[in-house]
Amino acid sequence: MSTQATPPLDELYREVVLDHYRNPRHRGALAAPTGHFEGMNPVCGDEVTLDLRIENGRIEGIGTGGRGCSISQASASMLADWVEGRELSEVREAIGAVRHMLQTGEPPRTDMGDIEALAGVAQFPVRVKCALLSWNVLEQGLDEITRAA
Ligand code: ZN
Repeated sequence: MSTQATPPLDELYREVVLDHYRNPRHRGALAAPTGHFEGMNPVCGDEVTLDLRIENGRIEGIGTGGRGCSISQASASMLADWVEGRELSEVREAIGAVRHMLQTGEPPRTDMGDIEALAGVAQFPVRVKCALLSWNVLEQGLDEITRAA
């Protein structure tokens, strides 16, 4: 467990982040994933693993694992919650939207639910890497799966 505290986000956002951290969605490995992917953020010691099951151009199943700070693990939980059942093109757009949000602090143009609670992380550049870790793993996973197809 990382000793880094959750940054002083607005109270409401902080609660959303801590809820995902304490009750991660889609936690655990998938039985028959299309691919298993891992990433690390050595700056903070965060690790994220993603199992993806892709069928008919959609993410039909996702399982997460890993450990690290609240931001990294909450972000992975939010990601899993949001991407399951969505088309790959939509997921790719979401990766871009999250990256933009974390660089600028502006919420995404389309409603992304709990993910918007991470917008405040943009004020803490060191923690942006924590928030982006799972999204980078997802993107690399989609690239590998697409290349192999
Ligand atoms: Zn971290």
